[in-house]
Amino acid sequence: EIAFYNDKFVGIDDKVVPIQERAHQFGDGIYEVVRVYGGKVFLLEEHLERFRKSADAIDLTFPFSLEKMKEIILEGLSRSEMEEAEIYFQLTRGISPRQHHYPGVPAVFSMTVRNARPLGDKNKGAAAIVLEDERWLNCYIKSLNLLPNIMAKQKAVSKNCGEAIFARDGIVTEGSSSNVFAVKDGVIYTHPATKRILHGITRAKVFELAAQEHIPMKEEEFDVAFLKNADEAFFTSTGVEVMPIHTIDDTKMPEEKPISNKLAEAYENLYKLKV
Ligand code: PMP
Repeated sequence: EIAFYNDKFVGIDDKVVPIQERAHQFGDGIYEVVRVYGGKVFLLEEHLERFRKSADAIDLTFPFSLEKMKEIILEGLSRSEMEEAEIYFQLTRGISPRQHHYPGVPAVFSMTVRNARPLGDKNKGAAAIVLEDERWLNCYIKSLNLLPNIMAKQKAVSKNCGEAIFARDGIVTEGSSSNVFAVKDGVIYTHPATKRILHGITRAKVFELAAQEHIPMKEEEFDVAFLKNADEAFFTSTGVEVMPIHTIDDTKMPEEKPISNKLAEAYENLYKLKV
C-alpha cells in the first residue's frame, strides 16, 4: 500500500496533511475511486473524465494536467506492486488559513493505493433499507462532503443491511454509495442522470451491457413501492460491481434474478477478459 500527497509519494500511514488544508477544515474538494484488477486500472479514463467534471462544477482548477495525474496514479500502482487494489484520489482547494471564500492557492492532489475491499456474495445479494434523501441538490458532483451518505450507511449497517437506498419525496434516487435499478416485466429502470444522482461509471457500463444483451432499459423515475414490487432490484458501484438486492426494508425480493445475474456476469467479463 502507498500514498501520494501534493508533490510526493509517502507511506500510507505518514502524517502529511497540514491542519489548514481545506479538505480537512471544509471538506472542500472532490474525489474518485477506481478499481484495479490483475494489475490494470479498470475504466480509468471514464473516472478521470468525471473527476474533471466534478472539479469544473466546484470551480476547482487542476494544479497539473490530467495526463500527469494519470502518470502519478499509474506510478503509484506500480510502486505498490499490487495486482488487486482500490485507488482513491482527491483534489482539494489547497492549504490556506481558514476563511470561507476561495483562497486562490494551488489545488492539492492526493491518492491512496490500498487493498480492494472484498466483493460481496452476489448469489446471496444484499439487504437494504430505504431512507429519506436529505442531501443537497448537486449529487452529480463527487464531493468530499459525504455526511448524509455515511450516516445513511451507518443506519443500514446497524440494521445488518449492506446499503441504504435514498428516496426524495417518494422517488428512488440512488444508494448511499451506489446507483439503484429495478427490473419489471423484462425492462430495467433507473433514475435519470440528473443533478439528483451521481452519474455512476458502473451504471453507464450496465447500460452498454444491457444493450448488448438486448435488455430494454429506461431512465425513468420510480417510487419506493415500484422498487419493492419489482421482479428484481440491484445496485451498481465500482466497489460492489452489479449486486442483487434480496430484501428492501421488510420486503423480500423474488429469489429468481436472471437479469441481475446476467449483468453481473457480463460486467465481470469486462475485466476478466481484458487481463
Ligand atoms: N452513487 C453514489 C452516491 C456513490 O457514492 C457511488 C460510488 N462512487 C455511486 C453512485 C456509484 O458510482 P460508480 O459506479 O462510478 O462507482
